[in-house]
Amino acid sequence: MDYYVYEYLRTDNTPYYIGKGRKNRAFTKQGHTVPLPSKDRIRFIAENLSADDAKNLEIELISKYGRKDIGTGILRNMTDGGEGSPGRIATAEQKRKMKEARAKQITTEETREKMRQAHTGRVHSEKTLDKMSKSASVRWANTTDDTIRIQKIKEARAKQDMTQRIVKCPHCEKQGGHRNMARYHFDNCKFNTN
Ligand SMILES: [Zn+2]
Repeated sequence: MDYYVYEYLRTDNTPYYIGKGRKNRAFTKQGHTVPLPSKDRIRFIAENLSADDAKNLEIELISKYGRKDIGTGILRNMTDGGEGSPGRIATAEQKRKMKEARAKQITTEETREKMRQAHTGRVHSEKTLDKMSKSASVRWANTTDDTIRIQKIKEARAKQDMTQRIVKCPHCEKQGGHRNMARYHFDNCKFNTN
């Protein structure tokens, strides 16, 4: 009966994570897929619970608030909850659910990656066009020689690389070139709780 259910709050007091555990669980970074908030934004929803009651409440609350990764709500939880109760063997039903959640997550990540690639491609072609003068773009359109085309693409890319901007991620404060940073930081940053 030493289990509890806790939530991590954003600065606007909406929860971004629901968890269950005991002892120091709510305050340790290890084992969490989300960043720890400051202590005043860790709230205990219920205490002195059995492992099963904590698990059930966790599942209920995750279902109530919904998950961001699968588009059902506001939580950064990556599963529907209920995992990791010690001394408990997962039932076939639980295993199936966990498998489904993982599959959904992978699909979401693949979709994101595809969108990112599509977006990057669009930005490149817009930039490339921008860099060329009007007459050059007419010549470009009339160019049938693939070697010239490829050479021009290479030149445009080299130019872009030289104009790489250094930007800072607002979530983890890491700095770096804007293309890599856009890929792994800002909205995609693992410290993003929004
Ligand atoms: Zn970051």
